[in-house]
Amino acid sequence: MLPDLPFDIAHVLIDGTWRATAQTLPLTNPSTGEEIGRIARASTADVDAAVDAARGALDGAWGAMTAAERGRILARIGQLVLENVETLTQLEALDVGKPLKQARADAIALARYCEFYGGAADKVHGATIPYLDGYTVYTLREPHGVTGHIVPWNYPMQIIGRSVGAALAMGNACVLKPAEDACLTALAFADIALRAGLPAGALNVVPGLGSEAGAALTAHPGVNHLSFTGSVGTGVAVQTAAARNVVPVTLELGGKSPQIVFDDADLDAALPFLVNAGLQNAGQTCSASSRILVQKGVAETVMSRMAEAYRAKVVGPATDDRDIGPLISAVQKSRVEAFLDQGADLPVLARAQLAEGLPEGGSYVQPTLFGPVPASHVLAQDEIFGPVQVVIVFETEAEALAIANGTDYGLVASVWTRDGARQMRLARKLRSGQVFLNNYGAGGGVELPFGGTGKSGHGREKGFEALYGFSTLKTVAAYHG
Ligand code: NDP
Repeated sequence: MLPDLPFDIAHVLIDGTWRATAQTLPLTNPSTGEEIGRIARASTADVDAAVDAARGALDGAWGAMTAAERGRILARIGQLVLENVETLTQLEALDVGKPLKQARADAIALARYCEFYGGAADKVHGATIPYLDGYTVYTLREPHGVTGHIVPWNYPMQIIGRSVGAALAMGNACVLKPAEDACLTALAFADIALRAGLPAGALNVVPGLGSEAGAALTAHPGVNHLSFTGSVGTGVAVQTAAARNVVPVTLELGGKSPQIVFDDADLDAALPFLVNAGLQNAGQTCSASSRILVQKGVAETVMSRMAEAYRAKVVGPATDDRDIGPLISAVQKSRVEAFLDQGADLPVLARAQLAEGLPEGGSYVQPTLFGPVPASHVLAQDEIFGPVQVVIVFETEAEALAIANGTDYGLVASVWTRDGARQMRLARKLRSGQVFLNNYGAGGGVELPFGGTGKSGHGREKGFEALYGFSTLKTVAAYHG
């Protein structure tokens, strides 16, 4: 059952007003497969209206605000998010299938993004540039204008926080297209933002189909910047559409992120990260660690300890708050099962448990650990986006580096070793947007710039760096003699 909400989930938010759309889409609970409501299906006309509303906000109250005023509103949004954590948690558990503790952590992270970007809004400065005699030259950081945010279903709250939060801090006006499988917390966030005093039109939300509302937003000539998180294929479509309008794009397209465990690693410290970084959110995490590279001397120990940890994990409905929930949808379940079929010839080290009496319609997959697996196998190369990890055994540092860098992706990598020189060498040589030494993810801090290389995408979100991405630089050269 959905909690009582101050807005209608079948509405879009445009110019501060909740509006019904001509058509709606079913809302499915992935833990049960049951339809639990209907959501809006925004049309091209709705997207046009949202972009117009955003432009109006830039020309109106929102555009006239100082950076400090924007920061204060973001801080208030963060406070209200904290006051509504339990509602947001319930919504995300029902909509996305996240176990409650993971949904709650996402809601708290959303608040943290608003706090961070609220505090940063008035701290982005330009520069003065020494130049020819008689000139004063300086730079101004300005908003792009209307920013489009295409958000996937795996971490809606965190991704809204990092992209919409940073965009609003810099004074952009946003049009947010959440995934059709996960729009409830986007709507709840927008409602909170309005209540916190965000002017009408500064944030518009148009749930609907990617191929309709998403495509309309990415192709819209009134949009000045696009932020996309999702698959490589859709990312290419988004960048192609953006290229036609010559607008910048931030793409975050997932990965095949390795953890490299050397013989001298502190295995007690590493073990929880090796497993949890692969199984968190049922493996539906762009930065999931789906490849575990283990040096030969500790390979047997690591594989048997990982297997033991797998067997102790339990998969269950989101509201039962077990270790792992369902996948987002039946479609995602069949994608992951197709990968498992391709791994039929691989040695299985362990599978996690499925709780007794799982609802038949739920999108459950039994988490599976394979190993040892050849580095070239499709399960060691492709992003699976499910609770599946592979162990690859290596002998030398050079071999480990070649394997780690040997996929199309480059989002996150981690190295477990007590050898400080090796840590520094690999931190430089790993082709990856983030490298973690003797940890994985560093707690996911909002302060840490995040993004990829290769097919993991380009541009950086999170941290202060995102504020540069969500703004453009103007150079002013004054000649005064
Ligand atoms: P998509 O990349 O298709 O979807 C991501 C977002 O893009 C959603 O909001 C989607 O809307 C939207 N979208 C879809 N088509 C278009 C379009 N033509 N123009 C603009 N926006 C569009 O991913 P899927 O949900 O289909 O998942 C497939 C695979 O993608 C996963 O198995 C995983 O490998 C990867 N993925 C990676 C993510 C990451 O965090 N890096 C997140 C999600 C998926 P809608 O859902 O309404 O169609």
